[in-house]
Amino acid sequence: MSTSGTHEVLNQSTPWFGANLFDGNRAMQDALAFHLPAHDATRLAALGCEAGSAELQTHARLANLHKPQLRSHDRFGHRVDLVEFHPSYHVLLGAALRHGLHGTPWQRGPGAHIERAAAFMLFTELEPSVLCPVSMTYAVTPTLRANPALYAAWGAGLAATQYDPHFAPASGKSALTVGMGMTEKQGGSDVRANTTAAVFDGDTPWGRAYRLTGHKWFMSAPMCDAFLVLAQAPGGLSCFFVPRWRPDGSVNPIRIQRLKDKLGNHANASSEVEFDGQTSAWLVGDEGRGVPQILAMGALTRLDCALGTAGLMRQALTLAIHHTRERWAFGKRLAEQPLMKNVLADLAIESEAATALALRLARAIDASEKDSAAPGRARVDPGHEAVMRRVLTPIAKFWICKRGAAFSQEAMECLGGNGYVEEGGEGVMARIYREMPLNSIWEGAGNIMALDLLRALRSADVAAALAQELAPARGEHAAFDRLADTLPLRIDGGTDEAQARSLVRDIALLVQAALLRQHSTDAVFGAFCSSRLASAADVFGLLPAGAPFDALIERALPH
Ligand SMILES: Cc1cc2nc3c(=O)[nH]c(=O)nc-3n(C[C@H](O)[C@H](O)[C@H](O)COP(=O)(O)OP(=O)(O)OC[C@H]3O[C@@H](n4cnc5c(N)ncnc54)[C@H](O)[C@@H]3O)c2cc1C
Repeated sequence: MSTSGTHEVLNQSTPWFGANLFDGNRAMQDALAFHLPAHDATRLAALGCEAGSAELQTHARLANLHKPQLRSHDRFGHRVDLVEFHPSYHVLLGAALRHGLHGTPWQRGPGAHIERAAAFMLFTELEPSVLCPVSMTYAVTPTLRANPALYAAWGAGLAATQYDPHFAPASGKSALTVGMGMTEKQGGSDVRANTTAAVFDGDTPWGRAYRLTGHKWFMSAPMCDAFLVLAQAPGGLSCFFVPRWRPDGSVNPIRIQRLKDKLGNHANASSEVEFDGQTSAWLVGDEGRGVPQILAMGALTRLDCALGTAGLMRQALTLAIHHTRERWAFGKRLAEQPLMKNVLADLAIESEAATALALRLARAIDASEKDSAAPGRARVDPGHEAVMRRVLTPIAKFWICKRGAAFSQEAMECLGGNGYVEEGGEGVMARIYREMPLNSIWEGAGNIMALDLLRALRSADVAAALAQELAPARGEHAAFDRLADTLPLRIDGGTDEAQARSLVRDIALLVQAALLRQHSTDAVFGAFCSSRLASAADVFGLLPAGAPFDALIERALPH
């Protein structure tokens, strides 16, 4: 207990450090046991221990406090286009690569995408913004296969686990990262509006080379070793590989104009760049195929938006529970006050539902990427999983990310005034709150996700696939059955664009409920259905009288 000359500091909660984030996460463990029954949790437990440590959490604070700095020129006036990061950023990115959160699942066996998804969530509880280049590297790796020569040269580096922070040619580095450049000033969601132009420059060992002229209005993690960039070629919008160093050892001119001054996501650099007509680029896939290729990459980063938000929710919940169990008001611990119990229990349900839906999507991706009959994974139906992958990507990205922002506000409020205070980066809750809206905006903002679901409905028999997905919870709760009964007409009969959000929400809630039925407790399933399916999800803390508050909170306890 610390003292000053005027008063003792009393009744403040202690810092939250040192817990194993995996061991304390019952919801994640149960979901993994369902999707990967024979899973060996050694790697996740090791990551959980590291991610919760005071040492790495301190690096997270420092990496956010000391924002990256652009060095556009050296002192002699030469352009250098470098971004300098605090050493803590490199420690964190090194840890993420060491745990194989980037390109490694593409080289591992069945279940690798599910395990990586859980690891990604755990790492988010440490620091989400360094995961931006990690996520992009994960997403671009399969797309790069469309240029076999490039994949042969870069594929192993994108999966290598020894991070190398140097600005140097790829051939001399122990591991590589790749970013993405789609968004331009005149169009982000509508990438067809891209004006960056690609002019053919000759055939090379990496295939067809081009020169780019144009700009990108957002290009995050500009110190990645290369970028996948959309540009207009003679054959239409195409996907290009743009390395920071050319294969001849010269620096490829990628002019970093500015770094964005962002609300949150402070440890990560997001830049505006220009390509000056001399920027070298190599075609990936065919000319004119840029949009489908970007969509394939975008689908994987959308998974990470859902995972990242679920991870942040879990972190915010942990901080809320920890604080309210140590803080007293009106004669009781806050966590013992009936209305606070309702809030905490409701947040716990939301956090578990987000974890469940995000991991379900990861399983669909895993099942459609690998031999579905492989041992160590629950039996899967590859056709069903392919439909789920297509449909659940926009649903999970939309719903989890939308709920994330409201969730972090409520969790912050559990800490009272302290929740709102930054205090030199120690205010983790404030950091979470600033980070939350980002996952909803980038890689397809909310409306774009809702509209994408409407497109997905036209591509397969989604009503039948959803009926199969929801079957395990049929007959278990009247509100569930009532809402599920509305789906076939809304899906097959067509949903108006203006109603797309409500369809996304309802499918998200039903899939979450069905998952909770299968790998959570009766208490969680029942409370979820009665609070979210019987009436629209609203502010948190509206669980009905008689809800098993203690059991719900007990399940979510972080230790
Ligand atoms: C921190 C940060 C980092 C980023 N990093 C990258 C990066 O590395 N690479 C990259 O390429 N991009 C990056 N982006 C850009 C991001 O992906 C875009 O901002 C996003 O896709 C939205 O595009 P926009 O900003 O052009 O908004 P707009 O496309 O103008 O959209 C604005 C709003 O209109 C809505 N809208 C659009 N069309 C419709 C429609 N038909 N019907 C209804 N509503 C619609 C959208 O949902 C959105 O809410 C980053 C953004 C941020 C904030």
